[in-house]
This record gives sequence, C-alpha cells and structure tokens, in this order.
Amino acid sequence: MSSIDWLNEVHNRKDSFIKDLQGLLQIKSVLDEENATEDAPFGKGVKEALTYMLSLGEKDGFVSKNVKNVAGHLLYGEGAESVGVLCHVDVVPEGDGWTSDPYKAEIRDGKIFARGALDDKGPTMAAYYAMKIVKELHLPLTKEIRMIIGTDEESDWRCVDTYFQEESMPTIGFAPDADFPIIYAEKGISDFDIVQKYTEASSDSGEVKILRFSSGRRYNMVPDFAQAVLEVKEGAQTEVIQRYQNYLKLENIPGRYLVDNGDLVLELEGVSAHGLEPNNGINAGLKLANFLVELELDEKADHYFQFVKNFFVNDSRGKKLGIDYEDEITGELTLNAGILDYQADHGGKIGQTVRYPVTNDMDQTKEKLIKLLAEYNFSLENFSDSKPHYVEKDSELIQTLSKVYEEQTGEKAKLLSIGGGTYARSLEKGVAFGPLFPGREDIAHKKDEYMYIEDLLKATAIYAQAIYELAK
Ligand SMILES: [Zn+2]
Repeated sequence: MSSIDWLNEVHNRKDSFIKDLQGLLQIKSVLDEENATEDAPFGKGVKEALTYMLSLGEKDGFVSKNVKNVAGHLLYGEGAESVGVLCHVDVVPEGDGWTSDPYKAEIRDGKIFARGALDDKGPTMAAYYAMKIVKELHLPLTKEIRMIIGTDEESDWRCVDTYFQEESMPTIGFAPDADFPIIYAEKGISDFDIVQKYTEASSDSGEVKILRFSSGRRYNMVPDFAQAVLEVKEGAQTEVIQRYQNYLKLENIPGRYLVDNGDLVLELEGVSAHGLEPNNGINAGLKLANFLVELELDEKADHYFQFVKNFFVNDSRGKKLGIDYEDEITGELTLNAGILDYQADHGGKIGQTVRYPVTNDMDQTKEKLIKLLAEYNFSLENFSDSKPHYVEKDSELIQTLSKVYEEQTGEKAKLLSIGGGTYARSLEKGVAFGPLFPGREDIAHKKDEYMYIEDLLKATAIYAQAIYELAK
C-alpha cells in the first residue's frame, strides 16, 4: 500500500498530537510509593498518566482496559493474532539544572523539552497516533492491534509482570523505548555478589591491616572512586605512602592520601562508564586493590585482595574465571566489578553484572562459578538472571520492520545487538524499534531531556506503517 502517505497523515494531525503530548508530559509521573493508595499503587502522578492515555483512547473509540492500576491497554481490530506496541508513561525523577521547567513541555528550536520527552512519553504518543491513523483510515486488518501501557518500567517492571499475569501475550510486537533502526538481540543480564567466606578475625600478622575498603554503589557502573583505610605498623607508614605515590605516578591516575587519627586513608579516582562495557572506564576499585595487594597485608585482607587481583584485575571478559564466551550475534561476555567492599570485621565482597551472549547458557556458567568460588573459599550470593532476548533476522517481524524503516527514512535498517536490556524483552516475540534515530544524542534520564518534533513525527509515520503492515 505505497499509496498511503503516512507522513502526510501525521502532519495533518500535528497540532492535536503536540497538544496531547504536552498534556501527558505535564503530569509528573515519578514513582511515589510513599503516597501509594490501592487505586494508585505507584503514586498519584503515575496513575494520572495511565488514566490520561486510557481516556484519550476511549475518546477516540478504542477499547480500553485498566489492569490493576499498574498497566493498561488500548485495543483496535480483531483477530486470532495480535500486534503489541509496548510503551511506558512513568519517568525517572527530573534532577537539577534544567533550562526550563521539566514538566512544562516547552518547545524551543524545534525540540520539545520535558522529562519523558524521549523516554518514553514522546514515543508513547507517537505510537498512539500511529494506531489512531491506522484506525481513522479504516484500513482492513486481520489482527488485533494492542497498545500496552506500563507504569513501572523505570523501576521494577511490576507493570508488565502484572499485565501478563492477567492478559495474553501479543503474537508479535515492538517497544518504542530505545533506538532505531531495530534492536534484534539483547544480551542476558546476570547480577550477583561474590562473598568472602573467610570470617575469622585476622591474626595480627601483616604490616598493614585493612580496616575498610570500598568502591562503587551499582552493579552496572564502573566505579570512579575508591577509598581504603589502613592501620599501618609503626615506622612503616612513610614507605607505604612513598610506594602509593609511585604507583599513582606509574599508572598515571589521580589519587591522594591523608592521615586520619593515626590511620592512613588512600583514595583513588577512576573513570565512570556503563557496566556493559567496562573497558570504556577505569575501575577505581580494581586499581586500588591492585596496589593494596602488593603490601604485606593481614591474612584475611590478603585472601580477599589476592582473589580480586587474580580474577578481576585487567580482565573484563571473565577469562580468568573461566566463564568467557563469545558468539557472532552479540559478541563477548562482559563482566563488571561494580561494587567492591571489604570490612575488617565482615570480610569482603565483589558485586558483579555479567552481560552474556544470546547463545550462552547461564546455568552452566553459574555451576562453573560456584565450583571455582568454593575452591577459593568464596560464595555466590544474591544471584539474579534476566535471560537474553533475540528475534531471528529472517523472521516476518524483522523483515517487515526493516522494510518499513527503509521506505520511511531512505536509510538502511541496520540490525543492532546490545549488551543492555530494553523493555522489549518482556515481549515473547518483540524488538526495540526507535525512537532515537542514529546520530541523535541520547539524553534520556539527563537534564534538558528533549526530542525533535520532526523526529517524533517521522517516528509516528514509521509506527503507523509498521502497525498496518504487521496487522493487515
Ligand atoms: Zn524507557
């Protein structure tokens, strides 16, 4: 049906699109559990954003459903099969430093600025208008079209968990909550702690006793700061300081020392990066651990820091742990030591996020790890696993979305594989499809979040044609 000018259909509705989008962006839909009620489990703002979308749909003649006040859907058409479009209307807190009110949705220089403009209210409204256009053109369809609206994507995905307990899974679908062209493969994500089992108090053998050592707060970030507090035997302090200064110089990294109540405090700065590619940053914790291990440490600290050095320093691929893996679809397994912590009383731990390829078996990896850790007197704790997500390149879904993208943009629909997880993984057969076009700055979760109006309109045209082609 090349006779339909999708972008023109979008332009004909531009004014009402922007007005409806501004209305949605003006709702502060940040998770607020302190003020939760039975009919607003994630707070008043989040619920208001859900109601806003459902009411808009009802007004335009869609069948709406509120699923336990945490999710909802808008339906059009009928069929044994369904096409799902998965969106969310919750946003992360606005933070500081905005040029204009983050909930005003001001338009400047062709951009609309608001928390949620890109993630994910802008694309939600784009997908809604896409569905509305398909409906208003009275095109013949063989499948049901279903827009699913979540309200807890930014936190714990309790929206989709509840929704799919109550409602069926769409046959195929997409989530406009990441990047164009198409993300067809997402690595598995496993987070866990490796915990030292050595719990007896240290005998006072070492020259240096580590009282505390800590670096990083999140599994999925490369820590950019590390600190250790040391009790150094009389007379040895000057030498330790000298060695530390030499180390910083040699490694060319910023750091400092200070003496606090007789204890020696060492600090070191790394470079933060997302944990899905630790090589993009410098792990401050590992850098400091690599220095500490060379000192004459007390027994318990020595056990911990030797382990950290032997299995994590200079290895973000799990080679030393024997869990490295690589495939053609998603590349290498990556390993990020995001949280390093040691206390003289409790011992140490290393909090990890592992991003593993789609053909990698995490159950096997986990077995291997448990065995190895037991040998070294460590244990695996707080293990969580979100399976990889992958839709075959030659599937009808990928083929159709590629064709639509290429027709609408004139650009090649490059298939992307990523180490992160997108909302699409909550669909059995779904991919992330937009809204961020290649080359555009990713300002999701940042101050002055915006989306180009032109991009929103273009995305709407792409979604409209995609919905139609998938459901016809
Ligand atoms: Zn999102």
